[in-house]
Amino acid sequence: MHSMNTSEALLLRKAPYGDADYILSIFTKDLGKISGIAKNAKKSMKRFGARLEPFVHFRVMFKDSAKELRFLEDTETIQVFQNFIEDVELFALGSLMLETTDALIPKESPNEELFELLIEALSNLNSKRSPLPIVLQFQLQALSISGYEPSIEACAKCENPIEGDSYFSINGGGSVCFECVGKRKNSFIFSKNFLLDSDLMESNLEKVLEYIKLFTKFTQRHTEKELKSARFIEELKL
Ligand SMILES: [Zn+2]
Repeated sequence: MHSMNTSEALLLRKAPYGDADYILSIFTKDLGKISGIAKNAKKSMKRFGARLEPFVHFRVMFKDSAKELRFLEDTETIQVFQNFIEDVELFALGSLMLETTDALIPKESPNEELFELLIEALSNLNSKRSPLPIVLQFQLQALSISGYEPSIEACAKCENPIEGDSYFSINGGGSVCFECVGKRKNSFIFSKNFLLDSDLMESNLEKVLEYIKLFTKFTQRHTEKELKSARFIEELKL
């Protein structure tokens, strides 16, 4: 006999499997990222309804098994982040956050802090507050929580503290002081103070978008995973 497990969850990815089933990657609060199969999901509206979609916070019930693929038994809606479904730009920004999460966490490794952070960020975005600073803050905190924190307080090369502006090296892992880089033109001037000041961010959303692009590249480089929404973000204009 299998025992049943239940957890809060968000869908990260799904792919059709055969005629009626879905293979899913789900971020659960209690078990971390798991893979599951929803049998007859295309027909069984009662069990799965429209809950196996992105931007739905749901409770999932599944058979506990040692196998890598778990059988989903039932789902129950907790909240629907409706605005993501209606707004193309929000959909892309939300997808970036889901894909970032997917890239940062290994399977079957609980990360309740990241789960709560993601739910909170999705809620904030859904409430139609200014989206870009929320996405940027999410990226920074998600990287930090999952062990990919960029070096921001100190130079990634000489480890001297960074006082104000610096360069930023994606490959090097973070801020690089002007002494270490020397004179180089056309580099991105990185300001850690900008990242700490929400008023400053609100007054310069173009710059916030540049940082989002930077940390999207950083995430892809260090997880060695491609984020599909990166291309949309790259072309996004304000
Ligand atoms: Zn340095």
